[in-house]
Amino acid sequence: MKKRIVLFATFLLSTLTAFAQIEGRVVLEVGTGVPGASVTAAGEDGTIVATVTTDGEGKYAFKELRPGRYKIEVNSSSFRSVVRENVIVSEDRTTTLDITLTLADLGDMAMAPPLLINDNDNNGGLLPGGVKLEPCIKPLVTKWALDGLNAKKAQFFGFYCEVTNAQYKVEQAELLKEQVLEHIAVDLNSTLTIPKSVGLTYRECKQANAFYAGNSIVMCYELVDTFYKTFEKDGLKGAELDQSVDNAVTFAFYHELGHALVSVLDLPITGKEEDAVDQLPRTSLPTARTKRKRQPSTVLLPFS
Ligand SMILES: [Zn+2]
Repeated sequence: MKKRIVLFATFLLSTLTAFAQIEGRVVLEVGTGVPGASVTAAGEDGTIVATVTTDGEGKYAFKELRPGRYKIEVNSSSFRSVVRENVIVSEDRTTTLDITLTLADLGDMAMAPPLLINDNDNNGGLLPGGVKLEPCIKPLVTKWALDGLNAKKAQFFGFYCEVTNAQYKVEQAELLKEQVLEHIAVDLNSTLTIPKSVGLTYRECKQANAFYAGNSIVMCYELVDTFYKTFEKDGLKGAELDQSVDNAVTFAFYHELGHALVSVLDLPITGKEEDAVDQLPRTSLPTARTKRKRQPSTVLLPFS
């Protein structure tokens, strides 16, 4: 009997409060959650009734909404805002609403790089073995990078290309989540002034390589793979393995940065350009490691 009273009381309470809920995840096109995004719920008259922030996995929840129709808006400093109108929630129900944030299309930009092969490493636009790299499909940038480009000042900027390999998709999602390329670009822009914009990207190349092509420094996911496999064969593992891959990737990046600078600054090189650009990693790495707060070595390779 006592139990029934308690049950009845619970029922009565829930009827009186009559809350409705909306929950879901804010994700990137590649599926990773976006942490720290602001999600607002506005009523039919446009008044914001609640604001929440997504957690580490991109999850959010409005627990105490009155039943009705809402406009849900997601804002993140790095991505385009998304609005969902007419989200209906009913009494004692949870409405699930997942929202995908998209990147800006770099294709509309006046300063978009041509993304054609014009490699200093390789003759005639061909990569070693005569492989022709396809242009980056639908180059995308985060809102952060786009805002920088809209400033119309030549600069380094990160961008993303379409990826098909499942493992590389995960790695791309990590790069996006941590805004790795954007941080490297900010770092470079604070130390180097260039007359022409240079893109930074990771992409699928169908071969282990890194190069300066189409006004962009391109790091191949396959190269990172190869470094891992090589160092694993040498018996490295754990943090030591990560550090070694990290160093190798950083060296490759600086080498390509050397090519980029020779090209955009029109530097006169005496002797072999390949040897000249290798001076950059040798001279810049120790400085980069000791002086910079956000070390390129740590931000270049977030995946392990
Ligand atoms: Zn080279």
